[in-house]
Amino acid sequence: MASNAMCLFCRIASGEIPAKKIVDDPDVVAFQDVNPQAPSHVLVIPRKHIPSLDDLTDADAATIGHTLVRAAQLARELNLHDDGYRVVINNGPAAGQSVFHIHVHVLGGRQFRWPPG
Ligand code: 5GP
Ligand code: ZN
Repeated sequence: MASNAMCLFCRIASGEIPAKKIVDDPDVVAFQDVNPQAPSHVLVIPRKHIPSLDDLTDADAATIGHTLVRAAQLARELNLHDDGYRVVINNGPAAGQSVFHIHVHVLGGRQFRWPPG
């Protein structure tokens, strides 16, 4: 599976850099965000190195689909589904993307506002 030796999240996925992992599937990994913005803040990533939404092609449809389905399953496992939860994918500088390996933020355990900041 394509990975990038310099990428922080590829290195977390491979286990080279430690993280509090809660999903370690063949194609998807999830771990606790090191700087949580809510009582529950998990990052769900494909193992495949895709820098951002802007880089997705039709060939990535299954990969990104699995990632999103796993995020929803995880939200249920964490018991976030009754109250509701926020799913965020930041894309590019204006959205504040800081790690260029696509990741789904799953945030829960508090009330969220709309529009987001
Ligand atoms: P972005 O700003 O790109 O949407 O989200 C990147 C997220 O990765 C941030 O919420 C940040 O706290 C988290 N993060 C950055 N470096 C690390 C790390 O080394 N370990 C973990 N677990 N999370 C990280
Ligand atoms: Zn990567």
